[in-house]
Amino acid sequence: MIKINNLHKSFGDNQVLKGIDEQINHGEVVSVIGPSGSGKSTFLRCINLLEQPTQGDILIDGQSITAPDACIDKLRQKVGMVFQNFNLFPHKTVKQNITLAPVQLKLMTPKEADVEAEALLEQVGLKDKADAYPSSLSGGQKQRVAIARALAMKPELMLFDEPTSALDPEMVGDVLDVMKSLAHKGMTMVIVTHEMGFARDVSDRVIFMDGGVIVENSEPEALFSAPKEARTQAFLSKVL
Ligand code: ADP
Ligand code: MG
Repeated sequence: MIKINNLHKSFGDNQVLKGIDEQINHGEVVSVIGPSGSGKSTFLRCINLLEQPTQGDILIDGQSITAPDACIDKLRQKVGMVFQNFNLFPHKTVKQNITLAPVQLKLMTPKEADVEAEALLEQVGLKDKADAYPSSLSGGQKQRVAIARALAMKPELMLFDEPTSALDPEMVGDVLDVMKSLAHKGMTMVIVTHEMGFARDVSDRVIFMDGGVIVENSEPEALFSAPKEARTQAFLSKVL
C-alpha cells in the first residue's frame, strides 16, 4: 500500500532522514521505535506531507505523493493522523470536532456526518461526550476523540505519533485498547510509540530507527527477543 524509496529529509544542514526504504502492506500494523531525535516523527510527517521530503519517493496505492502534480487533498483524505497533543479544536464540541472536516470537504451531508460521529463515539467509548467541549475531557478522552475525528474521514491508513506519551498512566490503556480494536478490524497503521508491550503484542512488524535510518526491521518477537544489531540491543536494554 505504501512504498517508500530512498527518503531523505533535511532541515537546513541538519540531515534528519538519511535514506529510508520501506514498504507497508494493506492491513499491516507497523510500530516505529527508537531514541528521541532519531527522525521518527519526521518520517511519519513525510508520509502525509506535513513535511516535504528533500529527496526520494513515496507511493500510496501506486501513486506518487511526492510528484509535483500529486493531489495533496486526496492524500490527506486517505491518511489519518493522530498526534501526541490531540490538536482538537477547543471551541468546538466533541461531535463538531468529528463532523467538521467531512462536511466541509463535502464527503458527507451534515446529517450523515452526525450519524457517523455518533457511531465513532460509541466505538471509542465516548457516546455520552458528544456535546462536551474538549477542555472538560481528560487526556485519554481527548485522544479517543482525536482518533474518532481521524476515522471520520474514512482513511485507508492511520498514522499515530506517540499517541499515549502525553497521558497520565491510568489513561493509556483505554487509548491503546481503541487502537488495538482498530488493528483487529484490519486498519493499516503506522505507530510511533514508546509502549513496548503494545508494540510487541499488536504489531505485525517493528521498525527500529536511529540516526535517521532504519537500523532493524522485523517481526516483534524477533526484534524484542533477539535483536540482531548492536544499536537495537543497546536501545532495548535501556527501555525494557
Ligand atoms: P523523533 O520523533 O524521533 O524524536 P524528530 O523527527 O522529531 O525525531 O526530530 C529529528 C530531528 O529533526 C531533530 O534533530 C529535530 O530537531 C529536527 N527537526 C524536526 N522537525 C523540525 C523542523 N520542523 N525544523 C527543524 N528541525 C526539525
Ligand atoms: Mg517524535
